[in-house]
Amino acid sequence: MLEFTVLASGSSGNALYIRTDRVQVLLDAGISGRQLQQRMRAAAGAEWAGLDAVLLTHEHVDHVRGLRQVLRSCTAPVYATEGTWHEVAAADSAAAEESGRVHRVRAGEGFSIGDLRVIPFAVSHDAEEPVAYRFDTDGASLAVVTDLGYMSDGIKSVIQGCDAYVLEANHDVEMLRAGRYPWSVKRRILGDKGHLSNDDAAFALLDVLADRRVDVYLAHLSEENNLPELAELTVSSALGEMGVDCLERVRLHRTSRREATRLHRLGCGDMEYDGRDHNKESERANG
Ligand SMILES: [Zn+2]
Ligand SMILES: [Zn+2]
Repeated sequence: MLEFTVLASGSSGNALYIRTDRVQVLLDAGISGRQLQQRMRAAAGAEWAGLDAVLLTHEHVDHVRGLRQVLRSCTAPVYATEGTWHEVAAADSAAAEESGRVHRVRAGEGFSIGDLRVIPFAVSHDAEEPVAYRFDTDGASLAVVTDLGYMSDGIKSVIQGCDAYVLEANHDVEMLRAGRYPWSVKRRILGDKGHLSNDDAAFALLDVLADRRVDVYLAHLSEENNLPELAELTVSSALGEMGVDCLERVRLHRTSRREATRLHRLGCGDMEYDGRDHNKESERANG
């Protein structure tokens, strides 16, 4: 069994909570400590004290904003690349004091946290040694891939055939080009070390989707240069054109900067949910 909720997603903050039968993991802590705690409780009934690991993708503030508070309130080890931790510690002296509990992660070298197998892989992004992760338990797999300029064949082979994806669909290229960002910022976002566009996400999916039902959470959407409807439409039409049915085979879900997604359970036969009420946005997204 593998359960996860996207606690926050977007350029204002990113975090994911994952649990298996035996362990609980936080992936990034990019919103305020207060928000992080509230959303973990509300979506999964989980507390910081119960965490078995805190994993980091990279040092950008939208991924580590609440890290200091999390570390203060739990004893879980931190998993980060040498480069990521170097940058985090350089920017935050309180975090630097926690260096003793940091496990150094290397791209391509898998490791286990209890019954959760973790594969970090390198991504092209304007950070110091950034990674993204694939998670596997017996019977369930999830890849979380955001903050990358392009999807390499190497990454595609690592994330091939997962049951669920949290995948970056950062911007609509036309909205970004026509928008009010300075050209230097546009160039950064569109560049090799920037972010995946809606089209990039669609093309990547076409190459990695398993031949069965898959759940895809479109993530890290730009508030300025994208719309949830547009991201969904772009991805579903591209998949549809290639013969992939977005109602039957691929279920697209929204993520939000403002609230956590419903706890999603993988690996127990059909999808199961926790039965809580959920808001209109996720209702629509779950279709
Ligand atoms: Zn980010
Ligand atoms: Zn980033």
